Amino acid sequence: MQLRIPGPTPLPDEILKAMARQMINHRGPEFAEMIHEATDILKEMFQTEGDVLILTGSGTGGMEAAVVNTLSPGDKVLCLANGAFGERFADIAEQFGAEVSRLRFEWGQAVEPAAVRQALSKDSGIKAVMVTQNETSTGLTNDLASISAVVKEFDKLLLVDAISGLGAIDLPTDAWGCDVVVTGSQKGWMAPPGLAMVSVNARGWQANAEAKIPRYYWDFAKAKKLLDEKGQTPWTPGITAIYALSAALRLMKREGLSNIIARHARVGDRAREGVKSLGLSLFADENYASNTVTAIKVPDGLDAKRLLSILREEHDTVLAGGQQKLDGKIFRIGHLGYVTEDDIDAVIKALRIALPQVGFKG
Ligand SMILES: *Cc1c(COP(=O)(O)O)cnc(C)c1O
Repeated sequence: MQLRIPGPTPLPDEILKAMARQMINHRGPEFAEMIHEATDILKEMFQTEGDVLILTGSGTGGMEAAVVNTLSPGDKVLCLANGAFGERFADIAEQFGAEVSRLRFEWGQAVEPAAVRQALSKDSGIKAVMVTQNETSTGLTNDLASISAVVKEFDKLLLVDAISGLGAIDLPTDAWGCDVVVTGSQKGWMAPPGLAMVSVNARGWQANAEAKIPRYYWDFAKAKKLLDEKGQTPWTPGITAIYALSAALRLMKREGLSNIIARHARVGDRAREGVKSLGLSLFADENYASNTVTAIKVPDGLDAKRLLSILREEHDTVLAGGQQKLDGKIFRIGHLGYVTEDDIDAVIKALRIALPQVGFKG
C-alpha cells in the first residue's frame, strides 16, 4: 500500500525489524546508550547545540509541553496562524491561561513577517511568539528565517511547531534563534507515532525556570536532569518507538541532513509538477510550497471523498483529505520521511486513472 498522508508515514523494512525486539529495562545501561545516541543525532538534525528531549506522546503533546514549560497564566503571546495547526497551538496556550492574540492569515497564504513586526511594535507586553514552520493543513512552509529575525529584533521568546517539517525541511534551530522547537516521530522521521522531540535553548531554559503553568508529565527540567544524569526519562518511555527512532536516525545520519533536505525538495517539486500535469491546481501560494505535503484544490463539482476511496480501493493509494473548513475543498499528498520521486510518480499515475472516474475532464 502507498500510504501518502502527512503522517504516519511508511517505514523502511530495517525500521520495522528494529521494532520487533524484546523489551529492555528503561532504567538500565542499554536504554541509556540508545537514548544518548538518538539524542546526539537529533541535535544534528535540529542543528542545535541546545538540549533535545525525547518525550513519549504525540506531536500535540509536544506542543502542550512547549506551552506549559515556558509560559505563565496571563502571559501575553502572539500566535501566528495560517491554518489548522497554527490555530491548535493558539488554542493550547489559551487553554492554559495565556492571553493569546491571534495574528491570522488566510489559509493557503504565508505568515507575513512585516505584519508580525507591526503586531510586536504595537504591544510591548508580549512575552512569546508561537508559529508553525510547516502548515500541514494547507501544504505551506512559512518563511521562518524572516519571521524569527523579526521576533529576535523584539527579543521575544520563539516557540515553533516544526512537527511536519523538521528532519525534511531546513530549520537551523540555533542560527534562527528558535527557543523551543517541537517535532513528532511519525512525520519526517521514518518512525511510528508516539514520540515528540523537543529542543530547548538557553533562553528556553530561562523561560522554563520562570514559567508558572502547572505541569507534571511534561516537565522539561525533570526530563533534562534524568537524561543528563542517568540516560533515562522521567516516566516509562515508548521503548518500541524509540527502537524505531534510533534505527531511523542512524539511516538519516548516513544519508546526511543536507541530502535529506535536497531529496524532499526534489520530491516536493515532483509532486507539484505532477499535480499540475494532471490539470489540477495547488491550494497554497506556490512561493511557499511545502516539500513535505502538497495540498490540491478539489475542482468544482468533484466529489473528493469518492476520489480518495477509488484511490484507496482500486489503486492501493491512501491520500489525505482536507481538515476543518478545508474538508471537501482540498486533498493532500504526504511526501515526507521514507519517500522518493518514484513514490510520487506512482501517486500521480493512480490519480491519472482515478480522476476521470469521478468525472474530471482535465
Ligand atoms: C501532525 C501535526 C501536529 C499534530 O501532531 P500529532 O502527532 O497528531 O499530535 C501538529 N502540528 C503539525 C504542523 C502537524 O503536522
